Amino acid sequence: MDKKLGFGCMRLPMVNGEVAKEEFIKMIDYFMAHGFNYFDTAHGYIEGKSEEAIRECLTKRYKREEYILTNKLTGKYFTKEEDIRPFFEQQLAICGVTYFDYYLMHAQNRDVYEKFKECHAYEVASSLKKEGKIKHLGLSFHDKAFVLEKILSEQKDVEVVQIQLNYLDYDDEIVESRKCLEVCQKYHKPVIVMEPVKGGALVNIEEEAKKIFQDLNGKMSCASYAIRFAASEKGVFKVLSGMSNLEQMIDNVSYMEDFKPLEKEEYDSIKKVVNILKKKDLIPCTACRYCTEGCPMKILIPDLFNCYNRKLQFNDFDIDRYNKITSKSGKASSCIKCGQCEKICPQKIKIREMLEKVADTFE
Ligand code: SF4
Ligand code: SF4
Repeated sequence: MDKKLGFGCMRLPMVNGEVAKEEFIKMIDYFMAHGFNYFDTAHGYIEGKSEEAIRECLTKRYKREEYILTNKLTGKYFTKEEDIRPFFEQQLAICGVTYFDYYLMHAQNRDVYEKFKECHAYEVASSLKKEGKIKHLGLSFHDKAFVLEKILSEQKDVEVVQIQLNYLDYDDEIVESRKCLEVCQKYHKPVIVMEPVKGGALVNIEEEAKKIFQDLNGKMSCASYAIRFAASEKGVFKVLSGMSNLEQMIDNVSYMEDFKPLEKEEYDSIKKVVNILKKKDLIPCTACRYCTEGCPMKILIPDLFNCYNRKLQFNDFDIDRYNKITSKSGKASSCIKCGQCEKICPQKIKIREMLEKVADTFE
């Protein structure tokens, strides 16, 4: 049976800003020796160093048929259709291969997808597949489920979909993991999971939650429940883990080598953990977005609330995310307190007051 764990090469071991190749080689050899062979990269990962390290540590050292390599077409590397092929050929050369097993249209959302369509990116990728330079065409996705449905209904050549899925975001109104998974199931697309441990947030969980997992089986790590949760979902054929040292690799391999889906008792424990993790004083925004259209300051209220909630839940102080969101829209502090948003909010959130908290936190 194919092993469900994939090696996400976005967070490789690093020393002085360079990939620690000796450690990476040890990890690859351990991974391969235990029957795993799936590697995932993209041109932008570690500023291009991920692809190079893959050439030096993987593709130069193993026969092509021994590993599965996924790469991606990222929107920022092309502005017109004619740019795509040279970029793709460059990726093949950097990785030291003549084909990619999977090639994904990277980070698709409503806006990015429009650009890919305008530049005929899906058509170019389909041609590359016909030429044998891509074995399977897919996409990676970050948006609402209805956007995914639109893409899959239009792009018949897409064979696999990579989505964000973890036990905490499963029913999250912004991430919509479960809904996205259901769309993939409806269109019979095998699923690759990214962020099964929510960027590490489900590895370092608070003590009370950790104890619930320890009471189940003292030997299993918190990460193991998160990764097995994703791997247990119907239609999921690969779960990526961005391992950055041999210790993490050994832990992941220990429970994924002979993968067993979660049992009822384990699901019950995960539910308890979710309740604990969600017991913070979060802003109860459902991201319906009713408030955003009429805001004179163009503040993306639900997105800013999401940043704030992530900080409370996971101590995830993602200032880059906040700055990115506010680079083309209003900051929390630009609120002029007109109150129109509060009139419309179905959750009756004191938006003005909450935005002050957001501004205090991020600005
Ligand atoms: S109160 Fe602030 S956030 Fe709400 S609509 Fe007015 S300016 Fe926008
Ligand atoms: S209207 Fe209320 S619940 Fe809806 S997105 Fe705005 S703040 Fe969130």
